[in-house]
Amino acid sequence: MAYDIQPTASHFIDGAYVEDTTGTPIPVICPVSEEEIARVYAATPAIIEKALAAAKRAQVAWAKMTGTERGRVLRKAADMIRERNHDLSVLETNDTGKPLQETLVADATSAADALEYFGGIAGSLTGEHVQLGEDFVYTRREALGVCVGIGAWNYPTQIAAWKGAPALACGNAMVFKPSETTPLCALKVAEILHEAGAPAGIYNVVQGMGEVGHALITDPRVAKVSLTGSVPTGRKVYAAAAEGIRHVTMELGGKSPLVIFDDANLEDAVGGAILGNFYSSGQVCSNGTRVFVQKGIKEAFLKRLSERLAHVKMGDPLDESVNFGPLVNAKQLEIVQGFIAKGVDEGARLVCGGEREGTRGYFLQPTVFADVTDTMTIAREEIFGPVLSVLDFEDEDEVLARANETDFGLAAGVFTNDLSRAHRMVAGFEAGTCYINTYNLAPVEAPFGGSKLSGVGRENSKNAVDHYSEMKSVYVAMTPVEAPF
Ligand code: NDP
Repeated sequence: MAYDIQPTASHFIDGAYVEDTTGTPIPVICPVSEEEIARVYAATPAIIEKALAAAKRAQVAWAKMTGTERGRVLRKAADMIRERNHDLSVLETNDTGKPLQETLVADATSAADALEYFGGIAGSLTGEHVQLGEDFVYTRREALGVCVGIGAWNYPTQIAAWKGAPALACGNAMVFKPSETTPLCALKVAEILHEAGAPAGIYNVVQGMGEVGHALITDPRVAKVSLTGSVPTGRKVYAAAAEGIRHVTMELGGKSPLVIFDDANLEDAVGGAILGNFYSSGQVCSNGTRVFVQKGIKEAFLKRLSERLAHVKMGDPLDESVNFGPLVNAKQLEIVQGFIAKGVDEGARLVCGGEREGTRGYFLQPTVFADVTDTMTIAREEIFGPVLSVLDFEDEDEVLARANETDFGLAAGVFTNDLSRAHRMVAGFEAGTCYINTYNLAPVEAPFGGSKLSGVGRENSKNAVDHYSEMKSVYVAMTPVEAPF
């Protein structure tokens, strides 16, 4: 099956594609040709109402089904996604500009993993029994109701499923708003879930900018919001959700440290730094962009990193031999170029890259700075592009303190052959997701999320279940009621 880039309609609501061209047009711009390749329209108040009403109605019956029945739908959707992986990956590449070489293994497949995992555990989600003498308490694990998911543009298929799978497994309905920059892929997740047997209204997608997100999360029918986005957006969404005391999951930005000790395996450390800075052209929230390299290994590290970066192949991301795509849009290119200029101005040493590649398409060379200090802008702010900063360090205590000297806390990594030191370091990191001798893997079985400004709650793993359900406590008396009068 081949997918057209232009979707059937802008929104997927109540089991069907729905169009309303009176909404603000959202052009989908190809990051390679800079041309419009598709167009959707932002949700109008009527579309938002239709989506929320459908979700509210459908959720009641969905929650009454057994977990096994719900899980079967999710697992079927996972199988369908795997069967259609190639076409879905082509769509993701068109939507984001990420190389097909990457999207074939990291996007729709990751969505399928989430659906399979949560589909698999849906039948085993339970409360507990607490015996209290003759009386007892039992707890019921109940769905929250209607959940809103709001996505970023770097992993549109994955984010739509990472939020949808646990929500649906627990008996909730979802209204998902993708980023206006990448509106296409979530529609396919909705379509496939419906085809796999999800009742109409259980998973809806509406397009739009921040205002649409705001309208969704402030609606009284909504019980929970899960956002993947930047810290400034997270603040706004969290505050809006707080007004209605709604549940939240916040997957926000980062400025994560990657610490490489002298005794590390050099090839692995360089590989980890590449994965943690240049995959998806650096547009990954958990990237280890502050690469602390111990002085003894620094020159060897920089030399080997430069050698391996010579194997970067930029070009049409649909060509499977290309391993480095453009940035997602002109705005992101400009932001990242601004950071590179600041790095140079503030005295960092440009080791390689730094330039836009060609004049058409948002291609930017992978960029490495050395001699970066803790106070430089490129070491403090999230860049969200292919810019790696190398900072020098001498000893463990010093580097741990400096690694934690940030308001973010999404991820952190350490490369060393000293087992005790590796575990001491991860125990000391103020970050939600840590790595020893690797970087940036995010299997569905492991909790993923941030500390400090990087977020609240965890996605994936059994942990996510607690963020999409709540416990009702039921006290059962087996003895006469003793009242004081
Ligand atoms: P943004 O914060 O700009 O946007 C995220 C989403 O929120 C978009 O769908 C956006 O809509 C929407 N939004 C914006 N304002 C509001 C509002 N007031 N109310 C409701 N919704 C709103 O992030 P980007 O899309 O630019 O993505 C990059 C950011 O995402 C980076 O900071 C990155 O670190 C983070 N991220 C975090 C991940 C994690 O798991 N921790 C994973 C991936 C990315 P629109 O843009 O359409 O206007």
